[in-house]
Amino acid sequence: MGTNIFTVMSQLATEHGAVNMGQGFPDFDTPRPLVDALARAMRDGHNQYAPAHGLPVLREAIADKTLDCYGHRPDPDTEVTVTSGGSEAILDAVMAVVHPGEEVILLDPCYDCYEPAVEMAGGTAVHVPLDPETFAPDWEKVRAAVTPRTRMLVINSPHNPSGAVLDADDIRQLESLLADTGILLLSDEVYEHITYDGRRHESVLRHPALRERAFVVSSFGKTYHCTGWKVGYCVAPPALTAELRKVHQYNTFCTFTPAQLAFAAMIRDEPGHYRGLGAFYQPMRDRFRAQLEGTRFRPLPVHGGYFQLADYSAVSDLDDAAFCRELAVEHGVAAIPLSPFYRNPPAGQRLVRLCFAKNQSTMDAAIERLEKL
Ligand code: GLN
Repeated sequence: MGTNIFTVMSQLATEHGAVNMGQGFPDFDTPRPLVDALARAMRDGHNQYAPAHGLPVLREAIADKTLDCYGHRPDPDTEVTVTSGGSEAILDAVMAVVHPGEEVILLDPCYDCYEPAVEMAGGTAVHVPLDPETFAPDWEKVRAAVTPRTRMLVINSPHNPSGAVLDADDIRQLESLLADTGILLLSDEVYEHITYDGRRHESVLRHPALRERAFVVSSFGKTYHCTGWKVGYCVAPPALTAELRKVHQYNTFCTFTPAQLAFAAMIRDEPGHYRGLGAFYQPMRDRFRAQLEGTRFRPLPVHGGYFQLADYSAVSDLDDAAFCRELAVEHGVAAIPLSPFYRNPPAGQRLVRLCFAKNQSTMDAAIERLEKL
């Protein structure tokens, strides 16, 4: 496998002084109370290993947050594990349960760390395309991809890269597809708190028939604007958690202690932060989309997360990789091409992914450059 596309595009942005709308990270400040809590934890001497599964105070806080959001409180001792980012939780989950020769169904386009995890476990990724317009799953196609070797299905809502969101009907179809099978579910919900226009995030944790077979992954980096801290967590039933923890203890063993104290305090003291995250991002999404409408890029609908897909067919005939290189090098805007998210990218697709978790000045600078194309 090569260097991942986010690293490649961020390097290109740095080299060429391009506005970085590619890699998904906010360029505005991390909440001050969180930073203060982290600094306080370090000053107070909380600088040694945390318990491998996470500090009890944070696992309790995660359980409470889950109850607050989804009406179900996982057992913090046996069902919640703190990891070094959502990516670690994904790798741990796959390594824990996928055996050589087993298959894992991925829905394309999908985030780039799923397939390497499956390959490292000795499994085989089976790719099923999402709808090319709406990025919704075609559950009949998913059903048709199931074989006796299928061990796991990976879902991701809100979806990276498209911003699509699974709805209650998707959940019903997923439940019926998995009923009477032994297939496990890996639900990547790192953008769980970012949905728009009143849409409800259909967490797998709301649905008993799904959560009893699922690893549900989240990320504090996305929720608290601190992707560089690399703290996430996994909620899974006790038997799955026990397996995940076996991998976790020899992967990272434990996660950065001071941040765990800081997140615990933040969840407890400022629940308005995660409850209001969609409302926080919605004006940014709306304004960025309105700005894009003034260019020759065509924005696709976004229902959740902080990525905007834009069709550039009116601007260039280049394929997306070549176009993104040209966009960064010649025009000073770094974006992410969509083809790396696919096993078989749709022929002729002309889409780039732009991240709108950015200061207004960053978005204005990008739009000023895109308007010239
Ligand atoms: N999750 C981020 C994105 O989609 C990138 C993370 C990374 O660079 N590995 O842009």
